[in-house]
Amino acid sequence: MEKIQFNDLGAQYAALKEEIDAGIADVIAGSHFISGPQVEELEKELCAFTGRRYCVTCGNGTDALRMPLMAWGIQKGDAVFVPAFTFYASSEVVSLCGATPVFVDSRVDTFNMDPEDLQKKVAQVKAEGKLTPRAVIAVDLFGQPAQFPEIEAIAKENGLLILEDAAQGFGGKIGERAACSFGDASATSFFPAKALGCYGDGGAVFTDDPELYALLKSIRVHGKGSMKYENIRVGLNSRLDTLQAAILLPKLHAFPKENEHRNHAAQRYAAGLQGKFQTPVVRAGYHSSFGYFTLKAESEAQRTQVMDALKEAGIPSIIYYPCPLHLQKVYAPLGYQEGDLPVAEKLAKTVFSLPMHGYIQDQTVDYICRVLQKL
Ligand SMILES: *Cc1c(COP(=O)(O)O)cnc(C)c1O
Repeated sequence: MEKIQFNDLGAQYAALKEEIDAGIADVIAGSHFISGPQVEELEKELCAFTGRRYCVTCGNGTDALRMPLMAWGIQKGDAVFVPAFTFYASSEVVSLCGATPVFVDSRVDTFNMDPEDLQKKVAQVKAEGKLTPRAVIAVDLFGQPAQFPEIEAIAKENGLLILEDAAQGFGGKIGERAACSFGDASATSFFPAKALGCYGDGGAVFTDDPELYALLKSIRVHGKGSMKYENIRVGLNSRLDTLQAAILLPKLHAFPKENEHRNHAAQRYAAGLQGKFQTPVVRAGYHSSFGYFTLKAESEAQRTQVMDALKEAGIPSIIYYPCPLHLQKVYAPLGYQEGDLPVAEKLAKTVFSLPMHGYIQDQTVDYICRVLQKL
Protein backbone atom coordinates (compact mmCIF):
# COMPACT_ATOMS: atom_id res chain seq x y z
CA MET A 1 0.00 0.00 0.00
CA GLU A 2 1.16 3.57 -0.73
CA LYS A 3 2.09 5.91 2.08
CA ILE A 4 -1.12 7.09 3.77
CA GLN A 5 -1.65 10.85 3.54
CA PHE A 6 -3.74 12.85 5.99
CA ASN A 7 -5.04 14.95 3.09
CA ASP A 8 -3.87 13.74 -0.32
CA LEU A 9 -3.54 16.88 -2.44
CA GLY A 10 -1.41 14.92 -4.90
CA ALA A 11 -4.27 12.52 -5.68
CA GLN A 12 -6.57 15.48 -6.31
CA TYR A 13 -4.04 17.14 -8.61
CA ALA A 14 -3.60 13.88 -10.55
CA ALA A 15 -7.37 13.77 -11.10
CA LEU A 16 -7.74 17.45 -12.13
CA LYS A 17 -4.29 18.09 -13.65
CA GLU A 18 -5.39 18.90 -17.18
CA GLU A 19 -7.91 21.58 -16.17
CA ILE A 20 -5.74 23.07 -13.44
CA ASP A 21 -2.68 23.28 -15.70
CA ALA A 22 -4.75 24.84 -18.51
CA GLY A 23 -6.21 27.39 -16.06
CA ILE A 24 -2.75 28.38 -14.81
CA ALA A 25 -1.41 28.64 -18.36
CA ASP A 26 -4.35 30.89 -19.34
CA VAL A 27 -3.66 33.31 -16.51
CA ILE A 28 0.03 33.52 -17.37
CA ALA A 29 -0.74 34.01 -21.06
CA GLY A 30 -3.22 36.79 -20.19
CA SER A 31 -0.86 38.50 -17.67
CA HIS A 32 -3.90 39.65 -15.67
CA PHE A 33 -2.58 38.49 -12.32
CA ILE A 34 -4.66 40.72 -10.04
CA SER A 35 -8.47 40.91 -10.45
CA GLY A 36 -8.41 38.95 -13.71
CA PRO A 37 -11.67 37.67 -15.23
CA GLN A 38 -11.35 34.28 -13.45
CA VAL A 39 -11.88 36.04 -10.10
CA GLU A 40 -15.29 37.37 -11.06
CA GLU A 41 -16.21 34.07 -12.70
CA LEU A 42 -15.35 32.25 -9.48
CA GLU A 43 -17.37 34.73 -7.38
CA LYS A 44 -20.40 34.13 -9.62
CA GLU A 45 -20.03 30.37 -9.33
CA LEU A 46 -19.58 30.57 -5.56
CA CYS A 47 -22.84 32.58 -5.32
CA ALA A 48 -24.63 29.93 -7.36
CA PHE A 49 -23.15 27.13 -5.26
CA THR A 50 -24.04 28.66 -1.89
CA GLY A 51 -27.26 30.45 -2.81
CA ARG A 52 -25.90 33.82 -1.62
CA ARG A 53 -26.48 37.06 -3.57
CA TYR A 54 -22.95 38.42 -3.19
CA CYS A 55 -19.46 37.00 -2.90
CA VAL A 56 -16.25 38.96 -2.35
CA THR A 57 -13.13 36.81 -2.68
CA CYS A 58 -10.11 37.93 -0.66
CA GLY A 59 -6.58 37.06 0.43
CA ASN A 60 -7.32 34.43 3.09
CA GLY A 61 -9.98 33.12 5.46
CA THR A 62 -8.83 35.30 8.33
CA ASP A 63 -9.36 38.46 6.26
CA ALA A 64 -12.72 37.04 5.15
CA LEU A 65 -13.74 36.99 8.83
CA ARG A 66 -12.15 40.34 9.58
CA MET A 67 -13.68 42.32 6.70
CA PRO A 68 -17.36 42.07 7.80
CA LEU A 69 -16.35 42.95 11.38
CA MET A 70 -14.55 46.04 10.01
CA ALA A 71 -17.58 46.91 7.87
CA TRP A 72 -19.86 46.65 10.90
CA GLY A 73 -17.57 48.91 12.93
CA ILE A 74 -16.93 46.32 15.62
CA GLN A 75 -14.54 48.02 18.04
CA LYS A 76 -13.19 48.42 21.54
CA GLY A 77 -15.90 47.92 24.13
CA ASP A 78 -17.84 45.48 21.95
CA ALA A 79 -18.39 41.83 22.86
CA VAL A 80 -18.31 39.19 20.12
CA PHE A 81 -19.33 35.65 21.08
CA VAL A 82 -17.03 32.93 19.73
CA PRO A 83 -16.79 29.20 20.43
CA ALA A 84 -13.73 28.26 22.49
CA PHE A 85 -13.14 25.07 20.54
CA THR A 86 -12.00 26.27 17.11
CA PHE A 87 -8.98 27.60 15.25
CA TYR A 88 -7.52 30.79 16.72
CA ALA A 89 -8.41 32.94 13.67
CA SER A 90 -12.11 32.79 14.70
CA SER A 91 -11.36 34.98 17.73
CA GLU A 92 -8.16 36.66 16.55
CA VAL A 93 -10.21 38.80 14.14
CA VAL A 94 -12.28 40.06 17.09
CA SER A 95 -9.11 41.07 18.91
CA LEU A 96 -7.73 42.69 15.73
CA CYS A 97 -10.78 44.98 15.75
CA GLY A 98 -10.04 45.91 19.38
CA ALA A 99 -13.21 44.16 20.59
CA THR A 100 -13.41 41.45 23.26
CA PRO A 101 -14.08 37.82 22.40
CA VAL A 102 -16.48 36.18 24.84
CA PHE A 103 -15.96 32.44 24.69
CA VAL A 104 -18.84 29.98 24.47
CA ASP A 105 -18.71 26.27 25.29
CA SER A 106 -19.22 23.51 22.72
CA ARG A 107 -21.52 20.54 22.32
CA VAL A 108 -19.87 17.24 23.09
CA ASP A 109 -21.68 15.46 20.22
CA THR A 110 -21.14 17.83 17.26
CA PHE A 111 -18.12 19.85 18.56
CA ASN A 112 -20.03 23.01 17.54
CA MET A 113 -21.08 26.02 19.62
CA ASP A 114 -23.64 25.14 22.30
CA PRO A 115 -26.64 27.46 21.78
CA GLU A 116 -27.68 27.08 25.43
CA ASP A 117 -24.31 28.31 26.60
CA LEU A 118 -24.46 31.16 24.05
CA GLN A 119 -27.74 32.28 25.61
CA LYS A 120 -26.10 32.20 29.06
CA LYS A 121 -23.00 34.11 27.97
CA VAL A 122 -25.07 36.83 26.27
CA ALA A 123 -27.17 37.24 29.44
CA GLN A 124 -23.99 37.42 31.55
CA VAL A 125 -22.41 40.14 29.41
CA LYS A 126 -25.65 42.13 29.49
CA ALA A 127 -25.93 41.78 33.27
CA GLU A 128 -22.32 42.90 33.81
CA GLY A 129 -22.94 45.95 31.62
CA LYS A 130 -19.27 46.49 30.74
CA LEU A 131 -19.27 45.40 27.09
CA THR A 132 -21.79 45.96 24.31
CA PRO A 133 -22.92 42.65 22.80
CA ARG A 134 -22.61 43.12 19.03
CA ALA A 135 -22.12 39.86 17.17
CA VAL A 136 -21.71 36.12 17.28
CA ILE A 137 -19.21 34.18 15.18
CA ALA A 138 -20.57 30.65 14.74
CA VAL A 139 -18.08 28.13 13.36
CA ASP A 140 -18.99 25.19 11.09
CA LEU A 141 -16.40 22.94 12.70
CA PHE A 142 -14.98 19.96 10.79
CA GLY A 143 -17.58 20.45 8.01
CA GLN A 144 -20.87 20.49 9.93
CA PRO A 145 -22.83 23.76 10.01
CA ALA A 146 -23.30 25.34 13.44
CA GLN A 147 -26.82 25.23 14.93
CA PHE A 148 -28.02 28.29 13.02
CA PRO A 149 -31.78 27.94 13.69
CA GLU A 150 -31.13 28.20 17.45
CA ILE A 151 -28.32 30.75 17.10
CA GLU A 152 -30.44 32.96 14.81
CA ALA A 153 -33.24 33.05 17.40
CA ILE A 154 -30.83 34.11 20.17
CA ALA A 155 -29.19 36.72 17.90
CA LYS A 156 -32.55 38.18 16.92
CA GLU A 157 -33.73 38.40 20.53
CA ASN A 158 -30.55 40.23 21.52
CA GLY A 159 -29.89 42.37 18.43
CA LEU A 160 -26.67 40.54 17.51
CA LEU A 161 -25.18 40.25 14.05
CA ILE A 162 -24.19 36.74 12.92
CA LEU A 163 -20.96 35.95 11.11
CA GLU A 164 -20.71 32.35 9.90
CA ASP A 165 -17.12 31.07 10.05
CA ALA A 166 -17.41 28.54 7.23
CA ALA A 167 -13.64 28.13 6.78
CA GLN A 168 -14.22 24.41 7.36
CA GLY A 169 -17.90 24.45 6.46
CA PHE A 170 -17.96 24.81 2.68
CA GLY A 171 -20.24 22.12 1.24
CA GLY A 172 -22.22 21.58 4.45
CA LYS A 173 -25.99 22.06 4.60
CA ILE A 174 -28.95 22.41 6.92
CA GLY A 175 -31.89 21.06 4.97
CA GLU A 176 -31.53 22.64 1.54
CA ARG A 177 -29.61 25.67 2.84
CA ALA A 178 -25.91 25.61 2.05
CA ALA A 179 -23.05 26.62 4.31
CA CYS A 180 -21.85 30.17 3.54
CA SER A 181 -25.51 31.27 3.40
CA PHE A 182 -26.18 31.59 7.15
CA GLY A 183 -26.26 34.78 9.16
CA ASP A 184 -25.60 38.35 8.03
CA ALA A 185 -22.28 37.38 6.45
CA SER A 186 -20.24 34.22 5.99
CA ALA A 187 -16.53 33.70 5.57
CA THR A 188 -14.66 30.80 4.07
CA SER A 189 -11.00 29.91 3.52
CA PHE A 190 -9.27 28.39 0.51
CA PHE A 191 -6.15 27.43 2.47
CA PRO A 192 -4.78 24.32 0.68
CA ALA A 193 -5.85 21.87 3.42
CA LYS A 194 -9.51 22.98 3.48
CA ALA A 195 -12.16 20.96 1.69
CA LEU A 196 -12.09 23.54 -1.15
CA GLY A 197 -8.50 24.73 -1.17
CA CYS A 198 -6.28 26.58 -3.64
CA TYR A 199 -2.48 26.46 -4.04
CA GLY A 200 -1.69 29.19 -1.55
CA ASP A 201 -3.81 31.51 0.58
CA GLY A 202 -7.31 32.57 -0.38
CA GLY A 203 -10.73 33.28 1.09
CA ALA A 204 -14.20 34.66 0.41
CA VAL A 205 -16.94 36.61 2.16
CA PHE A 206 -20.62 36.08 1.36
CA THR A 207 -23.67 38.22 2.11
CA ASP A 208 -27.15 39.04 0.82
CA ASP A 209 -26.88 42.68 1.97
CA PRO A 210 -26.05 45.14 -0.87
CA GLU A 211 -24.69 47.79 1.52
CA LEU A 212 -22.36 45.33 3.20
CA TYR A 213 -21.30 44.07 -0.24
CA ALA A 214 -20.28 47.60 -1.28
CA LEU A 215 -18.33 48.10 1.97
CA LEU A 216 -16.53 44.75 1.59
CA LYS A 217 -15.42 45.65 -1.94
CA SER A 218 -14.03 48.93 -0.66
CA ILE A 219 -12.29 47.34 2.35
CA ARG A 220 -10.71 44.68 0.08
CA VAL A 221 -8.79 47.36 -1.84
CA HIS A 222 -7.41 49.88 0.68
CA GLY A 223 -10.79 51.39 1.56
CA LYS A 224 -11.24 52.71 -1.96
CA GLY A 225 -14.02 55.09 -2.97
CA SER A 226 -15.10 55.34 -6.60
CA MET A 227 -11.57 54.38 -7.67
CA LYS A 228 -8.40 52.91 -6.19
CA TYR A 229 -6.70 56.26 -5.57
CA GLU A 230 -9.65 57.73 -3.74
CA ASN A 231 -9.44 56.39 -0.17
CA ILE A 232 -12.44 56.89 2.05
CA ARG A 233 -11.80 54.46 4.91
CA VAL A 234 -9.08 52.24 6.35
CA GLY A 235 -9.13 48.94 4.50
CA LEU A 236 -6.82 46.09 3.62
CA ASN A 237 -4.93 44.81 0.62
CA SER A 238 -6.72 41.50 0.41
CA ARG A 239 -7.48 40.20 -3.06
CA LEU A 240 -7.59 36.64 -4.29
CA ASP A 241 -4.87 36.15 -6.93
CA THR A 242 -6.18 35.41 -10.42
CA LEU A 243 -3.99 32.28 -10.43
CA GLN A 244 -5.74 30.99 -7.33
CA ALA A 245 -9.16 31.71 -8.85
CA ALA A 246 -8.16 29.74 -11.96
CA ILE A 247 -7.07 26.83 -9.74
CA LEU A 248 -10.27 27.00 -7.68
CA LEU A 249 -12.65 26.87 -10.66
CA PRO A 250 -11.94 23.22 -11.64
CA LYS A 251 -11.69 22.30 -7.95
CA LEU A 252 -15.15 23.80 -7.35
CA HIS A 253 -16.52 21.77 -10.28
CA ALA A 254 -15.06 18.59 -8.75
CA PHE A 255 -16.21 19.51 -5.24
CA PRO A 256 -19.66 17.80 -5.21
CA LYS A 257 -18.12 14.47 -6.20
CA GLU A 258 -15.30 14.83 -3.65
CA ASN A 259 -17.81 15.81 -0.98
CA GLU A 260 -19.86 12.72 -1.75
CA HIS A 261 -16.72 10.62 -1.52
CA ARG A 262 -15.77 12.09 1.87
CA ASN A 263 -19.28 11.25 3.12
CA HIS A 264 -18.89 7.72 1.79
CA ALA A 265 -15.54 7.40 3.61
CA ALA A 266 -17.09 8.83 6.81
CA GLN A 267 -19.81 6.18 6.69
CA ARG A 268 -17.25 3.48 6.07
CA TYR A 269 -15.17 4.70 9.04
CA ALA A 270 -18.31 4.78 11.21
CA ALA A 271 -19.23 1.21 10.29
CA GLY A 272 -15.66 -0.01 10.74
CA LEU A 273 -15.20 1.66 14.13
CA GLN A 274 -18.56 0.66 15.58
CA GLY A 275 -18.34 -0.41 19.20
CA LYS A 276 -14.77 0.86 19.49
CA PHE A 277 -14.96 4.64 19.07
CA GLN A 278 -17.80 7.10 19.09
CA THR A 279 -17.82 8.50 15.55
CA PRO A 280 -18.84 12.08 14.64
CA VAL A 281 -22.51 12.92 15.15
CA VAL A 282 -24.26 14.78 12.33
CA ARG A 283 -27.55 16.32 13.49
CA ALA A 284 -30.81 15.22 11.85
CA GLY A 285 -31.40 17.30 8.71
CA TYR A 286 -27.76 18.47 8.67
CA HIS A 287 -25.13 17.54 6.11
CA SER A 288 -21.41 17.64 6.89
CA SER A 289 -18.80 18.08 4.18
CA PHE A 290 -16.43 16.11 6.46
CA GLY A 291 -13.33 18.20 5.91
CA TYR A 292 -12.09 16.37 9.00
CA PHE A 293 -13.03 13.04 10.54
CA THR A 294 -12.62 13.45 14.26
CA LEU A 295 -12.79 10.85 17.03
CA LYS A 296 -12.78 11.23 20.81
CA ALA A 297 -10.52 9.14 23.04
CA GLU A 298 -11.57 8.32 26.60
CA SER A 299 -8.78 10.36 28.13
CA GLU A 300 -5.72 12.36 27.21
CA ALA A 301 -3.52 9.37 28.07
CA GLN A 302 -5.55 7.02 25.88
CA ARG A 303 -5.37 9.52 23.02
CA THR A 304 -1.58 9.48 23.23
CA GLN A 305 -1.59 5.66 23.12
CA VAL A 306 -3.96 5.57 20.15
CA MET A 307 -2.04 8.18 18.18
CA ASP A 308 1.26 6.42 18.90
CA ALA A 309 -0.22 3.13 17.66
CA LEU A 310 -1.50 4.84 14.51
CA LYS A 311 1.91 6.36 13.88
CA GLU A 312 3.52 2.96 14.34
CA ALA A 313 1.16 1.58 11.66
CA GLY A 314 2.06 4.39 9.24
CA ILE A 315 -1.20 6.30 9.75
CA PRO A 316 -1.00 10.07 10.27
CA SER A 317 -3.40 11.65 12.78
CA ILE A 318 -3.62 15.26 13.95
CA ILE A 319 -5.11 17.02 16.98
CA TYR A 320 -7.53 19.79 16.02
CA TYR A 321 -7.29 21.59 18.52
CA PRO A 322 -5.04 20.88 21.49
CA CYS A 323 -5.86 24.05 23.48
CA PRO A 324 -9.24 25.80 23.73
CA LEU A 325 -9.01 29.50 22.92
CA HIS A 326 -9.99 30.80 26.37
CA LEU A 327 -6.88 29.11 27.80
CA GLN A 328 -4.47 30.35 25.12
CA LYS A 329 -1.68 32.55 26.48
CA VAL A 330 -2.79 35.50 24.35
CA TYR A 331 -6.07 35.63 26.28
CA ALA A 332 -4.57 35.34 29.77
CA PRO A 333 -5.49 39.01 30.42
CA LEU A 334 -9.19 38.07 30.03
CA GLY A 335 -8.86 36.01 33.22
CA TYR A 336 -10.40 32.70 32.17
CA GLN A 337 -9.61 29.69 34.39
CA GLU A 338 -9.46 26.00 33.69
CA GLY A 339 -12.95 24.61 34.27
CA ASP A 340 -14.73 27.67 32.83
CA LEU A 341 -15.70 25.91 29.59
CA PRO A 342 -15.57 22.22 30.51
CA VAL A 343 -16.74 20.69 27.22
CA ALA A 344 -14.26 22.63 25.08
CA GLU A 345 -11.50 21.70 27.54
CA LYS A 346 -12.42 18.01 27.48
CA LEU A 347 -12.55 17.99 23.67
CA ALA A 348 -9.11 19.60 23.43
CA LYS A 349 -7.72 16.82 25.62
CA THR A 350 -9.38 13.91 23.81
CA VAL A 351 -10.00 14.57 20.10
CA PHE A 352 -7.87 13.42 17.18
CA SER A 353 -8.56 13.44 13.44
CA LEU A 354 -7.97 10.63 10.95
CA PRO A 355 -6.95 10.80 7.28
CA MET A 356 -9.84 12.18 5.23
CA HIS A 357 -10.04 13.61 1.71
CA GLY A 358 -11.98 13.31 -1.53
CA TYR A 359 -9.76 10.55 -2.91
CA ILE A 360 -9.19 8.27 0.10
CA GLN A 361 -9.51 4.61 -0.85
CA ASP A 362 -11.82 2.07 0.80
CA GLN A 363 -8.85 -0.18 1.52
CA THR A 364 -7.10 2.65 3.35
CA VAL A 365 -10.16 3.34 5.51
CA ASP A 366 -10.53 -0.38 6.19
CA TYR A 367 -6.86 -0.69 7.16
CA ILE A 368 -7.13 2.27 9.57
CA CYS A 369 -10.28 0.75 11.12
CA ARG A 370 -8.53 -2.62 11.55
CA VAL A 371 -5.58 -0.96 13.32
CA LEU A 372 -7.94 0.94 15.63
CA GLN A 373 -10.13 -2.11 16.31
CA LYS A 374 -7.08 -4.07 17.48
CA LEU A 375 -6.18 -1.55 20.19
C1 LIG B 1 -8.58 27.84 8.49
C2 LIG B 1 -9.51 28.54 9.38
C3 LIG B 1 -9.57 29.95 9.44
C4 LIG B 1 -8.57 30.85 8.77
O1 LIG B 1 -8.39 30.69 7.42
P1 LIG B 1 -7.01 31.14 6.73
O2 LIG B 1 -7.32 31.06 5.28
O3 LIG B 1 -5.96 30.19 7.17
O4 LIG B 1 -6.73 32.54 7.16
C5 LIG B 1 -10.55 30.53 10.22
N1 LIG B 1 -11.41 29.79 10.93
C6 LIG B 1 -11.37 28.44 10.92
C7 LIG B 1 -12.37 27.68 11.72
C8 LIG B 1 -10.40 27.78 10.16
O5 LIG B 1 -10.35 26.44 10.18
